[in-house]
Amino acid sequence: MLIPNEYILQKFYQYAGYPKFKKISNTYIAGCPICREGKSWLKKRRCIYIVDDNVICCHNCGWYSDTIKWIQEVSNMSFNEIIQESKEFDVLPLDILKEEAEVKKPITVDRLPKDSINLFDDNQLEYFKDNEVIQDTLSLIKRRKIDKAINRPDTLLVSLNDKTHKNRLIIPFYNEDNEIIFYQSRAIYDKDLKFYPKYLSKVNGEKSLYNINKISPDLDYIFIFEGPIDSFFVKNGTAVAGIQENSSNTFSSLQEQQLAGFKFHKKVWVLDSQWADKASRTKTQKLIDSGESVFIWPETLGKKYKDINDYCIDQNLDSIEPEFFISNTTEGLKAKLSMTVICR
Ligand SMILES: [Zn+2]
Repeated sequence: MLIPNEYILQKFYQYAGYPKFKKISNTYIAGCPICREGKSWLKKRRCIYIVDDNVICCHNCGWYSDTIKWIQEVSNMSFNEIIQESKEFDVLPLDILKEEAEVKKPITVDRLPKDSINLFDDNQLEYFKDNEVIQDTLSLIKRRKIDKAINRPDTLLVSLNDKTHKNRLIIPFYNEDNEIIFYQSRAIYDKDLKFYPKYLSKVNGEKSLYNINKISPDLDYIFIFEGPIDSFFVKNGTAVAGIQENSSNTFSSLQEQQLAGFKFHKKVWVLDSQWADKASRTKTQKLIDSGESVFIWPETLGKKYKDINDYCIDQNLDSIEPEFFISNTTEGLKAKLSMTVICR
């Protein structure tokens, strides 16, 4: 290494905007001083200093270089000036070394549909014990094994009077700081499907990744589902809250930024059964074409179940071993061949 890490860090803190340390991946993320995050300055952190690779890159403007070149760019210093200064530097702000304290914040109610009722709160359940909607929601949760699933969210909610999301099961999406920043709701009653789709996202909300606060470094994989409920049943399961069949953006920019914090995890897509669902076949093909790793349903299971939740209900499972997904994951040419067999 030409210059010490501490010096690079000092420069990163000096020039990048509002930096933050990500212990899990040993990276620092910040507002990019080169593109100033487009129109999202102070909102997004897409500039990443990857300490182990000695690289600084930006997911917005595409900057990618070694650390010295980045310092040259943002400071207007020459290569030699940087080397010289790095030999003499001695100021490392103390607060850089301190890891950010983990703060567990309570649920912020205004981030949720109106008057949301927490279904895991015994006091609230007692109060609503004669309420039909609440009782029907609880039976849906039981029937679909949602309450027992190992990767379910810390809370599930219902609103009885929200304009859009009333009388639906609300699934909160927590961010890395355990704050609810997004949610999806699922219809409880079939009759409501005439007016609203089965799943509805927060209005005007930027999509976040589901349970990103629960991704563990002990498992090298992240399993990306379309909808959250299927992802409840596997460790390191997350969900994007829907993929458009004919859009090239699979992630929101917030989701991209969240995933960038897990650069050592292998990402595997798990969709509904390709044997049972045409939309799933189209989406799988698209993901394969863009170089993604995908879980392909084995024929016997894929013909019997349409998604992971159905499989878990039928087999009475609270969780599925990651190995099941890993051993059925392929990419590239091999994945294309598997799809040819299914489409035959
Ligand atoms: Zn940039």
